[in-house]
Amino acid sequence: MNTTAHAGGRAVVLGGSIAGLLVAHVLADAFDEVVVVDRDELPDAAVPRRGVPQDRHIHALLARGQQVLEELFPGFTAGLVAAGAPTGDLLADVRTCIGGHLFARRTSGLTAVSASRPLLEAEIRKRVRERPGVRLVARCDALGLAVTPDGRRVCGARILRATDGSAGQVLDADLVVDATGRGSRMPRWLADLGVEPPEAEQVRIGVRYATRSFRLARGRLEGDLAVLHGPTPARPRGGALAAVEGDRHVLTLFGMLDDAPPLDPDGFIAFAGTLGSPEIARAVRDAEPLSDPVAHHFPYAVRRRYERAGLPDGLVVVGDASCSFNPVYGQGITVAALQALVVRRAVCSGWSGRTRRLQRGISAAAHPAWNLATGADLAFPEVGGRRTAAMRVAGRFVARVQAGAAGDPAVAAAFVRVTGLVEPPTALLRPGVVVRLAAGWRRGTSAVRTGPVAVGGTRAGSS
Ligand SMILES: Cc1cc2nc3c(=O)[nH]c(=O)nc-3n(C[C@H](O)[C@H](O)[C@H](O)COP(=O)(O)OP(=O)(O)OC[C@H]3O[C@@H](n4cnc5c(N)ncnc54)[C@H](O)[C@@H]3O)c2cc1C
Repeated sequence: MNTTAHAGGRAVVLGGSIAGLLVAHVLADAFDEVVVVDRDELPDAAVPRRGVPQDRHIHALLARGQQVLEELFPGFTAGLVAAGAPTGDLLADVRTCIGGHLFARRTSGLTAVSASRPLLEAEIRKRVRERPGVRLVARCDALGLAVTPDGRRVCGARILRATDGSAGQVLDADLVVDATGRGSRMPRWLADLGVEPPEAEQVRIGVRYATRSFRLARGRLEGDLAVLHGPTPARPRGGALAAVEGDRHVLTLFGMLDDAPPLDPDGFIAFAGTLGSPEIARAVRDAEPLSDPVAHHFPYAVRRRYERAGLPDGLVVVGDASCSFNPVYGQGITVAALQALVVRRAVCSGWSGRTRRLQRGISAAAHPAWNLATGADLAFPEVGGRRTAAMRVAGRFVARVQAGAAGDPAVAAAFVRVTGLVEPPTALLRPGVVVRLAAGWRRGTSAVRTGPVAVGGTRAGSS
């Protein structure tokens, strides 16, 4: 990229999953060398990894995430398609039921790409590995930070390679990026240096996942890519059945508030039948199972306020290590991609080396998604947290929009642009949306629903 300023000699990225790979990709525009270390294997193939236990479960790529990945890696979506991932339109080709309302459908112009999480990561890894100047080091554990004698600047990372049986060593760096995910030990490492760890905001949601792959009879979903059922306060359960590469479908079921989907085959299907519409259960009941159900427990969402901590220079924190969202909203990869854009802007516009300012930008990139997710989580009365009057008003308005989306595909399209992080929530206040909502209320097609959902989506055709 010809606008890039030269930023420094070496950047070290701790963690080589999606957030680490994306940030390595943009740093390679400005640093002579970018070293990515991961304690796990980093294979070429699209296979599950021990270091990313969540990769057995459905990973939605939000519309904005797809756009940013395409911007960072031109031809990214085509690469996924070449590997077998089905694509389609986010609204026209996906049966979406949110807030108990089955959305009306039309072409939204937003791309849904339905790849497994291992394929998404492998496609990114392949492209980052191809970059001159980037080195991926597998089976290498990050143990902590190295700082200058005055303690004010991070000047490297302490690492331990599993391969050579050696003692730990320091990998010198002009910039260290923590991308070690939700389990990041950065708060501990900072405390070891005498730095106050960041304040952590938690929202206890008790999300329990169970996932199983199937081969469905051809045409079972009538050409649709996926069926999504979001949870509601009255029924805090949901699920998603999605076509992925390899002619497979992955079904992820979840319960909030520690309502765990059973892992035995009959209990799993029975849980799928309680989502408010029988279509997911019906689709998989006679399907060929390709795996056993696997579980994942996600007790709380957490945002660590690194932008407010007095971080030493030369260090930033990205991805789930900084902010780990309720996974049911599918935001993590997209936020990691948005954070990579922030880093790219910083290193391309004459890198000042001022990492505190950069951390503020990185953290800010996560705020809109965090506000959307926690706003939705706090609609569940059992979820603890402060609810402001503004949040209650917003919650009632969003419920109206979801109801309106059932009868009006233009309202549905506006809503999925917001949840896809393509537009801010204020886009729902545009006259075009509000007028349509009001018309829906007058027609009586926008009543907020509490009962079961009718099966089958409305296709209103393209617009
Ligand atoms: C159940 C579940 C479902 C999800 N669904 C979605 C979804 O639908 N859509 C979406 O966008 N996001 C989803 N997410 C979030 C998504 O998985 C993450 O946001 C995404 O993987 C980016 O995370 P990351 O790269 O920061 O961390 P991770 O993907 O967790 O990776 C951390 C990496 O750091 C390595 N590592 C850890 N510690 C060390 C160490 N000490 N030294 C060296 N390496 C280390 C690990 O081996 C791993 O490779 C989901 C998460 C969960 C838990």
